[in-house]
Amino acid sequence: MKTDIAIIGGGPAGLAAAAAAHDAGVKDILIIERDNELGGILNQCVHNGFGLHTFKEELTGPEYAGRYVDMVKERNIPYVLKTMAMDISSDRVITLMSREKGIYTVEAGAIVLAMGCRERSRGALNIPGYRPAGIYSAGTAQRYVNMEGRMPGKEVVILGSGDIGLIMARRMTLEGAHVQVVAELMPFSGGLKRNIVQCLDDFGIPLKLSHTVVDIQGKDRVEGVTIAQVDEKMKPIPGTEEHYDCDTLLLSCGLIPENELSKSAGIKLDPVTKGPVVDESLETQVEGIFACGNVLHVHDLVDFVSQEASVAGEKAAEFVQGRLGTPVKEVGISCKGGVRYTVPASIDLGRMADKQVVRFRVGQVFKNARIVTYADGEQLSSVKKRIMAPGEMEQVILKKDVLQQHGDLQNITVAIETE
Ligand SMILES: Cc1cc2nc3c(=O)[nH]c(=O)nc-3n(C[C@H](O)[C@H](O)[C@H](O)COP(=O)(O)OP(=O)(O)OC[C@H]3O[C@@H](n4cnc5c(N)ncnc54)[C@H](O)[C@@H]3O)c2cc1C
Repeated sequence: MKTDIAIIGGGPAGLAAAAAAHDAGVKDILIIERDNELGGILNQCVHNGFGLHTFKEELTGPEYAGRYVDMVKERNIPYVLKTMAMDISSDRVITLMSREKGIYTVEAGAIVLAMGCRERSRGALNIPGYRPAGIYSAGTAQRYVNMEGRMPGKEVVILGSGDIGLIMARRMTLEGAHVQVVAELMPFSGGLKRNIVQCLDDFGIPLKLSHTVVDIQGKDRVEGVTIAQVDEKMKPIPGTEEHYDCDTLLLSCGLIPENELSKSAGIKLDPVTKGPVVDESLETQVEGIFACGNVLHVHDLVDFVSQEASVAGEKAAEFVQGRLGTPVKEVGISCKGGVRYTVPASIDLGRMADKQVVRFRVGQVFKNARIVTYADGEQLSSVKKRIMAPGEMEQVILKKDVLQQHGDLQNITVAIETE
């Protein structure tokens, strides 16, 4: 089987990429989704707050996803469900598996990776104690409560203050559980400020920063957990232990982009984002394979996922149409002063759009600092921000005409500077 563009993952990123590729003139597209339905993780996010940027209204996750599913259906873009992409080769042959069709391959003119991310599991976190029932990742608990009508427990402690944990603190409370505390290892929350206010503060749920779980009690079912304060090296401080009687521990300790397929295609991954290294066209270092959404880097707002995915879809279309253009000069983007990474990691001055969005996250909380960009050491822009935190994505816009004035440009830098 052959297709012009194969899109792996039918979440918001895959759907937006498909619609954009179609609008750019490529009609032979295949969306590959392993789940029973399109929509991705948004299907289990029944809270509102989605789409403020894109649709200027507050939608629930399924409503937001539904708008993009409609776009795909209006355009008659083909998709397969309950079909898992098992392998991608560097020459863009995808091995798929489904119950109905068994194992088969698709040769794609271009591929858009949109596989999203998964939650970091307890095993990866090394919490001591037994392995009793009652320990869930926050996303698993969310699926149980919102999609399967099951309640994971009644007395809850949450470790990690990523957005999923914060959302689940509120959700479990609304469903009648008692959320006793959210413990966060870092001295700052990993989630959006608005989620801390709306999901914890509004419900009187304490957030204990610089705390972690040091023991889990219970053999068959969780009976309690002990948390303790940690020092600057993240080591528990003896004497600060606090015990909580509870039957449930939810873990919200980070998301990992799902890049097993990317690795099989020989795609270079960024050690910070754990997603593919991409250029201005969101093309990975394997020609004709593009990436977007949470598989590229973990996003806070789905609106940015959709925007980014539209670019990936358009660029994949340009690639199969032979319009993407050959790279003229690739210029790397360096990170300085607390900028952890940038997406893209480099831009080509020939292929870049008139305005290039560069997204990044900071590694610590900054107050009244500036986001400053440089071209070969010469300042291009400086924007003051009252607050920047690791939980919130930041962005700068680079202008092509300005960069082109820098003759033999070697390097662009994005830096955080404090006053
Ligand atoms: C609990 C929670 C709360 C959130 N709250 C908000 C919020 O309030 N506001 C907001 O704007 N954003 C929110 N987000 C973020 C938003 O949901 C994500 O940014 C967005 O869903 C990412 O889209 P995606 O398409 O990249 O990934 P996903 O939605 O994860 O979709 C990836 C898809 O790829 C499929 N897939 C993966 N691997 C394969 C494979 N090998 N073969 C076939 N299919 C595959 C998966 O089944 C999935 O359907 C929240 C996220 C979570 C988890």
